[in-house]
Order: sequence, then C-alpha cells, then structure tokens
Amino acid sequence: MELLKQRIQEEGKVLNDQVLKVDSFLNHQVDPLLMMEIGEAFRERFKHEGITKIVTLESSGISPSVTAGLAMGVKVIFARKRKSLTLTDGLATSKVYSFTKEEWSEISLSSEFLSPDDRVLIIDDFLANGQAGLGLIDIVEQTGAQVAGIGIVIEKGFQSGREILQSKGVRVESLARVQSLQNGRVTFYKETGV
Ligand code: 5GP
Repeated sequence: MELLKQRIQEEGKVLNDQVLKVDSFLNHQVDPLLMMEIGEAFRERFKHEGITKIVTLESSGISPSVTAGLAMGVKVIFARKRKSLTLTDGLATSKVYSFTKEEWSEISLSSEFLSPDDRVLIIDDFLANGQAGLGLIDIVEQTGAQVAGIGIVIEKGFQSGREILQSKGVRVESLARVQSLQNGRVTFYKETGV
C-alpha cells in the first residue's frame, strides 16, 4: 500500500535494527483518514473470504480493525491484555509473549461473540515473530470459529512471524512489508501490490 509506505518513510522512527516506531499515525496518535484507507485495503484483499467477524488485540489493533469492519460491514472484537472485572464468563484465553514489552501476558475474549459459523479475519498493527498472531488464532479456534486469514498493517519480513503463522495454514496479508531497518533506514520489499 503506497500511501502507508510513504507515511512510514516520512514519519517512522527506526529505534534500532528490530523496532520501528510509528506513534504519529498508528500506535499513539491515530490518523483516521489513513485508517480508512487501511480498512479499504483489507476489504479488497479479503473480499472473497466470506469474513463474518474481525478479531484484534487491544490497543493498537483496534483502529485499523474498526475501519476494516466498517468497510466489510462486520463487527470487531478486541481481545483484552488485562483481566477485566466484567469479562468473566465463557472466556477463551491464551498466553502471549510480547515482542516490545518482553513479557508474557494472558489475552482473552468472551466466546459469546463468536460461533462455529464465523469466518474470522485477525488484524494486528505489526507482525514480528508471530506470537500475538498465534495467541489470537488460539483463542478464536477455542470458540469453534474458523480463522480465514490474518491482516497486518506493518510486517517486518526479516523476522519469523510470517513463516510461523503460515505454518499453521493461515493466509497472511500485510499492507507494508519491511525488508530491513538497518542503518536507521526503512527498506521495503520490492513487490507488486505490497
Ligand atoms: P509478534 O507477536 O509478531 O512477535 O509482535 C507483534 C506485536 O508486537 C504487535 O502486536 C505489536 O504491538 C508489537 N510490535 C512488534 N514489533 C513492533 C515494532 O517494530 N514496532 C511497534 N510499534 N510494535 C511492534
């Protein structure tokens, strides 16, 4: 997605060879117009998959998921990273190792919002080593629903996430694929349509 790649080049901060900061439009301040374009891009890529629900992880996955949900006409469920007093019954939970926080957390969602008839699109902001994606696949499958694909806003292709998720038989689509963050520069893969 050219517009997204342009914004990453202009506003992204390379913290080190492994971590990219995009706080000006995705991870802290949110640009709604860019999120609308991102939602459309996800709709275009998954339009033949019969998606009935979107599942994401709080908090940075929520904005691109809501615009994708709007574009596709489906509801969005965000898995929680913290225990909630009101979220108690029928919980699907999984343990996830956080790439940026370097700690384990338990993610959960209430199974009342998914059924075995659902075809779920999982959306997340970044793909690094695939741990958030694996946890999300796990909790969706616990409800009996089917994972129809994973949509990622920014994939770091030099990490192992794509292989790990594809090895579970899941289709992975990312809107921007970073090849390298070396020497303080963002380099993208030269691929058509990415
Ligand atoms: P994974 O679970 O694939 O190893 O890492 C993905 C998760 O870690 C995402 O949900 C995202 O929140 C966070 N993450 C991984 N790499 C980056 C990065 O380079 N920048 C930011 N802002 N978040 C990242």
